Amino acid sequence: MIIQKSTNPRISNFDPENFSFGNMFIDHMIICEYENGKWGDVKLMPYGPLPFSPAMMGVNYGQACFEGMKAYKDKDGQVFIFRPEKNFARINKSANRLAMPEVTEEIFLGGLKALVDLDRDWIPYGEGNSLYIRPLIFATEEALKARIANKFMFAIVATPAKSYYSEPVAVKISDYYSRAANGGVGSAKAAGNYAASFYPTKLANEEGYEQIIWTDDSTHEYFEESGTMNVFVRINDTIYTPPTSEKILDGVTRDSFIQLAKRRGIDIQIEPISVKKVIEAHKNGTLKEVWGVGTAVVTTVFKAIGYQGERLDLPQLPLEESFALTLQKDLVDIQTNVAEDPFGWRVLVEKNILENA
Ligand SMILES: *Cc1c(COP(=O)(O)O)cnc(C)c1O
Repeated sequence: MIIQKSTNPRISNFDPENFSFGNMFIDHMIICEYENGKWGDVKLMPYGPLPFSPAMMGVNYGQACFEGMKAYKDKDGQVFIFRPEKNFARINKSANRLAMPEVTEEIFLGGLKALVDLDRDWIPYGEGNSLYIRPLIFATEEALKARIANKFMFAIVATPAKSYYSEPVAVKISDYYSRAANGGVGSAKAAGNYAASFYPTKLANEEGYEQIIWTDDSTHEYFEESGTMNVFVRINDTIYTPPTSEKILDGVTRDSFIQLAKRRGIDIQIEPISVKKVIEAHKNGTLKEVWGVGTAVVTTVFKAIGYQGERLDLPQLPLEESFALTLQKDLVDIQTNVAEDPFGWRVLVEKNILENA
């Protein structure tokens, strides 16, 4: 690893009590460049802009994918990353689908740990606080040729993040737009999937819905995901979530929720969820909760579902009665080292990784 530490760190300007998420970056970043068929040295360097041409292929043809993950600080100042090997496996799955080179464990996990250790002072302690980490791979070759690029960059940037709490939102069940299609890139964390979702989401916003529940592209009869999260539905005391597929992203939070529900002995069924079943359950009063899960906010509870012009309000359950909030708490307690971790999900970030290397 090539190490260039910042001579002008901004950490002293960072107020962990008062910051906004997503536009303030930690002092360093990781980059690693791929050319001539191989990855070069991993560089840990000061965070900042890089020179690129508008003819860069990643921008023109969309060869770009990313990950989203978090590091947490416990009361003793120890730092943990949550299930990083899942993100490592997934970025390579995404890279494969987009015809980009896979990164090695040394590049991804080695770079990640060195970066998080060096900038550990940027991780805010306290309930709901974390460091949001964004690894990404994109095509950097400067060429207007519609083919697989032969130069890429792997990078990791990170930004301090606050509270998980997100207000309950109203969601619209999509009966026209789709996020993913059979044979498409829905199970890859492709940058373009996000771009494609913004316009339908904007239209839903104009109708008073914050997010969309994406349904299958051929019939729009089955739930797939909600916004950029995996979706869960509770009818009576059974939780349902659709099986992952090439149209449904295999979320780390989804997988963790399933395991946590099983540990509590909650009945959880991994099976397709039809729109009809959900509407019927609402009509007969058995639809208890609908929520989305993902790394960024862990859980977003839905307060209403819109379907073909009708708005169905959902009850808002207190923590003791809510499966969504109970499982969220179970997960956050493991992530932040408040509870035991029988699953082995937390990975401790050792101190002084660079000095000891
Ligand atoms: C990232 C993402 C998720 C959530 O995955 P996590 O690993 O839980 O953060 C769900 N759906 C889509 C489309 C995503 O991009």
